[in-house]
Amino acid sequence: MICMCLTRKTLKDNLADAAVFNKYVDCLELRADLLDESELPQLAYFPERTGKPCILTLRKTADGGSFSGGESEHSKILGQGLEGPYAYVDIEHDTSAVGLIPQARQKGIQVIRSYHNLEEVPGNIKYIIDSIASADCDVPKAACRVGSIRQLYNLTKANMEYSGKPAIILGMGPFGFATRVLAPKFGNFLTFCSPPDTSAAPGHIDPVKINDVYRYKSINSNTGVFAVTGNPVMHSKSPDIHNPGLEKAGLDAVYIPVQADDLAAFLEYCKLLGITGVSVTVPHKHSAMESMDNAGHEAVTAIQACNTLVMKNNKWTGYNTDAAGCIAPLSRLFGHYAGLQGKKATVVGAGGAAKAVLFALKKAGVEILIINRTAAKATQIGEQFNVRSAPAKDTGWALMRDYSDIIIQTTPAGMHPNEDIDPLENYSFTGSETVYDLIYAPEKTKMLARAEKAGCRILNGKAMLVYQALEQFKLFTGKDYPLDPATCIKNL
Ligand code: NAP
Repeated sequence: MICMCLTRKTLKDNLADAAVFNKYVDCLELRADLLDESELPQLAYFPERTGKPCILTLRKTADGGSFSGGESEHSKILGQGLEGPYAYVDIEHDTSAVGLIPQARQKGIQVIRSYHNLEEVPGNIKYIIDSIASADCDVPKAACRVGSIRQLYNLTKANMEYSGKPAIILGMGPFGFATRVLAPKFGNFLTFCSPPDTSAAPGHIDPVKINDVYRYKSINSNTGVFAVTGNPVMHSKSPDIHNPGLEKAGLDAVYIPVQADDLAAFLEYCKLLGITGVSVTVPHKHSAMESMDNAGHEAVTAIQACNTLVMKNNKWTGYNTDAAGCIAPLSRLFGHYAGLQGKKATVVGAGGAAKAVLFALKKAGVEILIINRTAAKATQIGEQFNVRSAPAKDTGWALMRDYSDIIIQTTPAGMHPNEDIDPLENYSFTGSETVYDLIYAPEKTKMLARAEKAGCRILNGKAMLVYQALEQFKLFTGKDYPLDPATCIKNL
């Protein structure tokens, strides 16, 4: 089940949230601890107004809630609420409100006993889950803040080994996100979500996304898992590209972001779950090279970065799809790949993205000038790729005139929240240039807007993001991406 937490101050506002997301959720948790005190006498009348099974929860401050009263007041408020037709009541594992259990049972209300750890996943989490499950309850619940990929591993392992009553085992915070989407893979009773503008607990996903992007209802014990890892990674748009492709291809698989502070530990987690395809992003693209068993693309060693890992026969092969991803939309703009041959291009910036661009442009037969704020870096990379280099100042701006069929901006200058920066402010576009900015937020940087105004053809980083993902999709699944890339770019 998908359960939406209702966290407004009034029952009326909670009912409004429930109505908006009605078709996306199976049950509702009323967080009575977040209600205005004046609403509490009406608690018993809430469930019948929703048309859904409801959980009544009065979460204490020690467990991450807002109820700061004593035990007897806690029991009294819950007891009054249980006069109404709730389907479940959440009673914390360490409360003395156990007197409520017979009252709940008499009315056919199922009892959730919950354990919360706001600090970490404790080493004995399996024992804790087992002991709650053995207490007088229908549904044991454990929610822990996950502080690292190792803690996610421990919580997931405990969940996989647990074989008692239907349980709710969830990880809070960005490191714990996978537990929320994969809850049905491990046979969990439900997962929680929150309306997009509220969040009852750190890491809650919104009801539309868990249905439409992650297809929660189709996830089962056999569902395959692919992942994007980085730190941070929750901002990644890759799930919005891969998941619709998996669905269209009819594959029983889901693609999720997994935040990892240690790539080696993340790969252990992959082994635990049987994850065979991984997109790797900042800061792990270099350490992925150390973890892979062999390189599947020449680009990996040339760029010294691996953004894709694929497991086959117990071995990780590393790939780099950034190079192919950046050139694909450009060659489309020039009619075909061969259309790039002999063109002259300036690459702005000398970081990791610039290397992928240089590798791809060289392969396509483009003549290149690299310019960079720090001249020494431009020189170093220019030598590495055997292309001309210059500092991003007067000499560079003058030289650019000779390398201006294509201009590719690869620095973060102009990216949100620094939209006011134009890294090429000293260069005036003639209108004949094709200008490509690898930034995708905002969609049109200050530099791209200026180029468009001058009459240039423009391209932003969304195209590269999508095309590099399409390459990964093929490596992960052996199938071509089944949706139109242009639609995919438009929908991002
Ligand atoms: P990086 O390795 O950190 O590269 C930073 C480069 O940008 C350096 O050359 C640096 O110059 C330069 N730079 C930084 N701030 C600057 C400023 N204010 N003015 C001028 N130059 C500046 O980063 P990266 O991994 O290459 O990524 C760079 C950009 O590419 C990011 O915006 C990223 O989002 C984008 N990207 C997009 C995709 C995609 O799929 N669309 C894929 C990869 C990367 P110095 O050497 O002088 O410090």
